[in-house]
Amino acid sequence: MNVTIVGTGYVGLVTGACLADLGHHVFCLDADEAKVAMLNDGRMPIYEPGLDELVARNRDEGRLSFSTDVKASVAFGDLQIIAVGTPPRADGSADLRFVHAAAKAIGRHMDRFKVVVQKSTVPVGTAEQVSRIVRAELHARAKDLDFSVVSNPEFLKEGAAIDDFMNPDRIVLGVDDDLPGRRALGLMRQLYGPFNCNQERTRVMDVRSAELTKYAANAMLATRISFMNELANLADRLGADIELVRQGIGSDPRIGYSFLQAGAGYGGSCFPKDVDALCRTALERGQRLSVLEAVQSVNQRQKLVLLQKVLGHFGDDLAGREFAVYGLAFKPGTDDMREAPSRAIIAGLLRAGARVAAHDPVAQESAARALAQDLADEPELLQRLRYVERPAEALVGADALLLVTEWKQYRVLNPSQLKRAMRTPVVFDGRNLWDPDQLAAAGVTYLGVGRSNLA
Ligand code: NAD
Repeated sequence: MNVTIVGTGYVGLVTGACLADLGHHVFCLDADEAKVAMLNDGRMPIYEPGLDELVARNRDEGRLSFSTDVKASVAFGDLQIIAVGTPPRADGSADLRFVHAAAKAIGRHMDRFKVVVQKSTVPVGTAEQVSRIVRAELHARAKDLDFSVVSNPEFLKEGAAIDDFMNPDRIVLGVDDDLPGRRALGLMRQLYGPFNCNQERTRVMDVRSAELTKYAANAMLATRISFMNELANLADRLGADIELVRQGIGSDPRIGYSFLQAGAGYGGSCFPKDVDALCRTALERGQRLSVLEAVQSVNQRQKLVLLQKVLGHFGDDLAGREFAVYGLAFKPGTDDMREAPSRAIIAGLLRAGARVAAHDPVAQESAARALAQDLADEPELLQRLRYVERPAEALVGADALLLVTEWKQYRVLNPSQLKRAMRTPVVFDGRNLWDPDQLAAAGVTYLGVGRSNLA
């Protein structure tokens, strides 16, 4: 099939490369000329494991192309998959500017039946808005063409995006129950056919339910994390170990183990903005989502828990102290710094007077950009922040090590190396990654999240 992807970011690029790998012909459109130039040059604008090889192969074999040419992109795909960003506005609602622009361009240039596939995460009712925009553009051109808007939310996780896309738990398709809708459903089934032969993973529903499904999924996952973080803080006060509690409840099949890890709070481009946007949608309909409002405020506090533990241990004035920070991206496997807890933690350390030596296997460049932006009004603070090539370099002379993102390469910690290199061997384990007993036995002071009985 001929497919156009509008928006070549974390979702669009993965979707485009994976669909091309299944044999479809894919035209990736992006408004960002620099991004398109990079991709045409064989360079990757983002880090996602395995994506560079997938993009290169499909580009070389002629199934995947990148362009800024809107007219050509609309002409190309029978399916127009919208995967542009839907960032948060100041009031928490989703900014649909890019989605509307994409819809407008499709309406302005289409010349035959099109399926407009809404893959960006958008509030309930957006597909109807997209329909109205396309129809208005057609009307302005005095064209009477059929089209259908399908809601096909994306559930991939950065860091494991290719595997998630290629082996989806479910494919949600929200379609209209009319003639164009049924035609669109046929094409969507054809699109996903290669890895969903028996269609057993497809959930077909009305458009509004599909739009709400995506928010419900992210809201549930965020809720589990905030729930455990709040209990972890209580465990700290009670002298219990949240890790043991996690194992104790996760073994109940009604609960399960996923997303029960206490830590330094969630970040990323999805959970914070999607929970806020859902709360906003509900408010517009006269309903408060009290559980989700609490989920967000617990998370805001949780992002600072590690910093508070540092201040509790060393005092409020950190002048003359140096801290090693491991992990900057909002989670392992990505260079995405959107809403990453490391940003608040590092800014807090610097404001308290500390020096920081930071390491991340892939996110150092995007971290430097994000922190420069966060501290634009206090640029002098950045002089006390440096990035190191190897994790061990950050330890030299450090008063403490903070683990913020649990990259695999940090799993094995060598206590004797810590004691040799650091001024004082203290670790703040923001992801409960390390073995407290082993570290304590080796004379390292260990502080985790919800494990104060082990400190
Ligand atoms: P992103 O910011 O990485 O990419 C968006 C891209 O769209 C950018 O490259 C931008 O230049 C481009 N763009 C904006 N307007 C355009 C236009 N009119 N025409 C062409 N290109 C345009 O965003 P992302 O992380 O890929 O997220 C995209 C959507 O998918 C969001 O709604 C997000 O909530 C959702 N989503 C993201 C993830 C994730 O893990 N990142 C997972 C599931 C769903």
